[in-house]
Amino acid sequence: MSEHLAIDGGAPVRGSLLPYARQSIDTNDIAAVVSVLEGDWLTTGPTVATYENAVADYVGAAYAIALSSATAGLHAAVYALGIGPGDDVIVPAMTFAASANCILYCGGTPVFADIDPRTCLVDSEDIESKISERTKALVTVDFTGQPPDMDAIRSIAQRRNVKVIADAAHSLGAQYRGRPVGSLADATVFSTHPVKPITTGEGGIVVTDNELVARKVRTFRNHGIASDARKRAQEGEWRYDMEFLGYNYRCSDILCALGVSQLKKLPSFLARRREIAAEYDKAFSAIDELEIPARSSDVESAWHLYVLRLHLPMLTVDRGQVFRALRAEGIGVNVHYIPVYWHSYYQSLGYKKGLCPVAEREYERMITLPLWPGMTSRDIADVVSAVCKVINAYRK
Ligand SMILES: *Cc1c(COP(=O)(O)O)cnc(C)c1O
Repeated sequence: MSEHLAIDGGAPVRGSLLPYARQSIDTNDIAAVVSVLEGDWLTTGPTVATYENAVADYVGAAYAIALSSATAGLHAAVYALGIGPGDDVIVPAMTFAASANCILYCGGTPVFADIDPRTCLVDSEDIESKISERTKALVTVDFTGQPPDMDAIRSIAQRRNVKVIADAAHSLGAQYRGRPVGSLADATVFSTHPVKPITTGEGGIVVTDNELVARKVRTFRNHGIASDARKRAQEGEWRYDMEFLGYNYRCSDILCALGVSQLKKLPSFLARRREIAAEYDKAFSAIDELEIPARSSDVESAWHLYVLRLHLPMLTVDRGQVFRALRAEGIGVNVHYIPVYWHSYYQSLGYKKGLCPVAEREYERMITLPLWPGMTSRDIADVVSAVCKVINAYRK
């Protein structure tokens, strides 16, 4: 007999919900923020450049530009690469909506590519088959923290003369064939939302080796005005010129101070994430109803997400029921992602279900387990015992 599930009135594994992700903030982070609050520059001050230089050094890129979010960074990158009305941009269906929305912001058309069923990363053959005369760029997504086959994708891009924007919201600190994410695309965008590898509360950062792209992103962030207010004040200059229609997408010194402090801890965050993923692998690899995340020998993942896949024919219930049962046990599971074009807005634009059958099929059996650096061994044990309890109860 299986244990009585909490969803059926039994005792839950945990009394309080374990979140699927959470920031790790310590006293050094707090002191860094306080010191900016006590200083002269809350925004457009010197800490922005300190943070940008630290990130550029870390990922081996020539330029880094901090913005108010990765969404703003994606918008800026798409703009800087010259995408506009009439241009197609290929983007995987298995991602967060922001990866595709940035194309729409600039008047371009997202063309969805399907995923490889083993890795759930974008399928480079499907990219190639969807490139046409209208294609100007590709957005790649480092889903769960793993870059896709960037050498193959870049060689397609070079041959077909299209640009590559890497949505690396999940993958600050990841590596591909020994090279850091941030050095693999024309522009790479990281997120520092609290669930992501490091946090600034809200924030994004664009890195590139292309000076012109860097300049455009920097100007785009500041209304389309190239000079900043602090420089003008220092130089006793009042004139400025707005070159194109930009936005206020700046990141404040308060947030950048947090970023500098968080970046120092990224190696330890990554190590802890890797450790937790290894514990999950060990616990779940022997359970026939579960498929653990595929690993590629080319990739050192940042382990933003741990996505289990269910072998649904071996279970009496669907993913929705497993999800609800785990929530009832106190485990804050999540699902990443609903295929982007299934959202009603994309449906209203005319995208039809069935476009990317692999992404649609895999989505139905995915479930994201809690994974964040501050998880205790007790938290990990609770996740393992809740997953085993629920799978035992719903095994055919
Ligand atoms: C989180 C996320 C974003 C957006 O990041 P924000 O910093 O919240 O704007 C974009 N793409 C992917 C894949 C993400 O997971």
